[in-house]
Amino acid sequence: MARWLRPLVGALLLLEGAAALSFLHHRYEELVQALFRVQSQCPYVTRIYSIGRSVEGRHLYVLEFSDYPGIHEPLEPEFKYVGNMHGNEVLGRELLLQLSEFLCEEYRRGNERITRLIHDTRIHIMPSMNPDGYEVAAKQGPDSNGYLTGRNNANGVDLNRNFPDLNTLMYYSREISGPNHHIPLPDNWKSQVEPETLAVIQWISSYNFVLSANLHGGAVVANYPYDKSQDQRFRSHRRTVNTPTPDDKLFQKLAKTYSYAHSWMHRGWNCGDYFADGITNGASWYSLSKGMQDFNYLYTNCFEITLELSCNKFPPEEDLERQWMANREALVAFIEEVHQGIKGMVSDENNNGIAGAVISVQGISHDVTSGDMGDYFRLLLPGTYTVTASAEGYQPLTVTTTVGPAAPSLVHFQLKQEVVRKPAERKASGTRMNNKALQKKVVPRATRRGTQR
Ligand SMILES: [Zn+2]
Repeated sequence: MARWLRPLVGALLLLEGAAALSFLHHRYEELVQALFRVQSQCPYVTRIYSIGRSVEGRHLYVLEFSDYPGIHEPLEPEFKYVGNMHGNEVLGRELLLQLSEFLCEEYRRGNERITRLIHDTRIHIMPSMNPDGYEVAAKQGPDSNGYLTGRNNANGVDLNRNFPDLNTLMYYSREISGPNHHIPLPDNWKSQVEPETLAVIQWISSYNFVLSANLHGGAVVANYPYDKSQDQRFRSHRRTVNTPTPDDKLFQKLAKTYSYAHSWMHRGWNCGDYFADGITNGASWYSLSKGMQDFNYLYTNCFEITLELSCNKFPPEEDLERQWMANREALVAFIEEVHQGIKGMVSDENNNGIAGAVISVQGISHDVTSGDMGDYFRLLLPGTYTVTASAEGYQPLTVTTTVGPAAPSLVHFQLKQEVVRKPAERKASGTRMNNKALQKKVVPRATRRGTQR
């Protein structure tokens, strides 16, 4: 190419790159194109990977934003958004495409807030967890879409009723003072879940996610765990029993961050239903078993909430721009929530990171563990906390620390080796129980009334 032509071609490429994503519904091929377009426009801060394939062989693509795509940097938290788990709940899918393009464009423009967010956070965006169901729903289109058409995957399974039921195991183990985190999976779990669920479980097991949201439709509310009520006598699907986690206040704050940054979610009256502040405990709305949200909390370090984003599960294209404007600030503000509480390194006396160290906060019976490099993240509200780090073969270390409202406090733990070694104990020991018998008690149902989450 002639040297004088280069700036001209460069300018044209920039113009082309700036072409905005249109407010249209994206079928699978178009979704893939849209993701790769963003990736080509922001090649240095993005990466696309697939976590597996759907029943019909479609890729479950994730777009990652980071200053070092593909690499976990110690002390940089991992965040995720998952959309379209129910194939006919499509707004989340389109919003996540819009968000991807927005992050890329604003980064290129030098927007300070977005640049900082991408530099300090590793953001994973999966616009569709159920691409097969989406195609079924999209064939019918927005106007004639049935209330359940395309909700399930190609095997007819509701993916948000398909995760191993760890709640029952946790409620049982709580009675015997067992662990409240990283509950072990039933032995035969792989044969009991769908390909999409399997892919997600393997995904969330291999990244140390700290915070996430999964996006649904059919109501407008930010829903937080637990989704499943403990008392099985309250099995009706409406207005069951508030079932808080040990992190209830934090979850309420996370949910409010979204609802108040959203144009109308916080007002409470939406779709003929009322939720104070636009938030709800899942089980107090209607109890559901084997959901993804509770699974994240009980099996991993990730705090997940469920966002119900529109009354109409498959809104017409004319409504997409208004919906994007209503959700844009909330989608960004929620990612920023990953930067709070405490984080730090757990290391030995030679400064080698200790993976799998347990971080316990006095008064909150839910622990988190350090990642492969020894870094840990513990979301907390402002306050003063007594925190203990413990790891097999080391002496536990306890510190008192104060958490402010803004950036997370850095609290590092250097652990000394234990003088007298105890016999090796499995992490999360004492939970071996008859999983099969417990699992059998749970009969998941999806009634027409409880078909949002
Ligand atoms: Zn849903």
